[in-house]
Amino acid sequence: MDWTGLGDEAIDLLRRYLTIDTTNPPGGEIAGARFLAEVLAREGLASEIAESAPGRASLVARLPGDGALGGVVLHHHIDVVYADRRYWSVDPFAGEVRDGFLYGRGALDMKGIGVLQLAAVLALKRSGTPLTRDVIFLATADEEAGSAFGAAWVAAERRHWLAGAEYALSEFGGIITDARWRTAVGAIHVSEKTALALRLTARGEPGHGSMPWPDTAPHRLIRALARLLAAERAPRVLPEVREYFRLLARALPSDAAAGLDDVERALGDPAFRARFLQSRHWAALVRTTFAVTMLHGSEKRNVIPPEATADIDCRMLAGDDPEEIRGWVERTIGDGQVRVEITKPPCLPNLSPPDTALYKALDAALRRRRPDAVVVPEILVAFTDNWVFRRSGLHAYGFSPFVVDEGELRRIHGNDERVSLDNVRAGARAYTEMLLDFAGA
Ligand SMILES: [Zn+2]
Repeated sequence: MDWTGLGDEAIDLLRRYLTIDTTNPPGGEIAGARFLAEVLAREGLASEIAESAPGRASLVARLPGDGALGGVVLHHHIDVVYADRRYWSVDPFAGEVRDGFLYGRGALDMKGIGVLQLAAVLALKRSGTPLTRDVIFLATADEEAGSAFGAAWVAAERRHWLAGAEYALSEFGGIITDARWRTAVGAIHVSEKTALALRLTARGEPGHGSMPWPDTAPHRLIRALARLLAAERAPRVLPEVREYFRLLARALPSDAAAGLDDVERALGDPAFRARFLQSRHWAALVRTTFAVTMLHGSEKRNVIPPEATADIDCRMLAGDDPEEIRGWVERTIGDGQVRVEITKPPCLPNLSPPDTALYKALDAALRRRRPDAVVVPEILVAFTDNWVFRRSGLHAYGFSPFVVDEGELRRIHGNDERVSLDNVRAGARAYTEMLLDFAGA
């Protein structure tokens, strides 16, 4: 393989891809899909574009294997979140290179990964390597606004695009470095927490704001919320989370690592538990969380309304039962006049096992990229399109060979999002080698 040539090509492709504005809303992913189709066509690779709505395009292309083993979907989303140009030091859609970094909205999330996948597909095609599995390149619309026009639409309306696939790869994952740690941490996302939309509705007699009483609808609601926030749902340590912390303990400085080798046992110690739960991220890994995000009462200050509502962004762990959670909230607030309902059918929490052939290939790829890295299976507390693939019966992982630190990650959805040219070069090679390892005959 000509790795230098492939690296240069990946940088050029990403620069051009980043200049295509696919801010969602409105998306306009068709322009990105056409760009990808053109690149593939030059290599003699046919692709298909389908629109879920005008301009909302997704694309698929397939490198056929010999059918011996299940196929792998390389997925990325074409859309990006908006960029507020006033706070960027470069034009977010110019594909500008500065000080060894390529800047642009989508550099990390996730046109950058899409280009690594594209470069790997081009490299496999050119090399003529026989494959044991189909390699399916899939680019979709609308991840940043809920996937209804993208991955979820593809899974429902273009099911044959996923035919023969056993695995999917999407965002995030990656190799995270931190100057305070003993080693880098390579994360492979095996699961995502799942949103459960809960609403509390309190009802009561309406009246004048000048003569309040304890049981107005807003007052009942506030007391119910106070009981919910004061209650602590017991932490639940999934086996994958226990393993995550056991491995993470090897990378963290020894004082921070204390207790993490058996986090389930350590959580029984009140001092450890208090310290552990101070980390919002760690707390979210072992708990079903409840964030009160929307409150609604009266339209007017002097009117006591007949109804007050609170919407709660609840995030479930794999294995959680939405009805059980609803019942727990109801018992916790203990007020028959406050109704607790699930306002949107939840996508069930999902998890892919960390002992599959693909997981092993990803683990090896991260170690090749960064030999000192501790590789951990991680649960993403946010969510991506991977739930769609898991619901379609695939084992899906968040994987990236980029080496980044917290400062780089904070630019995702923030200002001055960028990726280093070194990462693009090394990433194109790492993605290709991983596929040769996993799907090469
Ligand atoms: Zn993304």
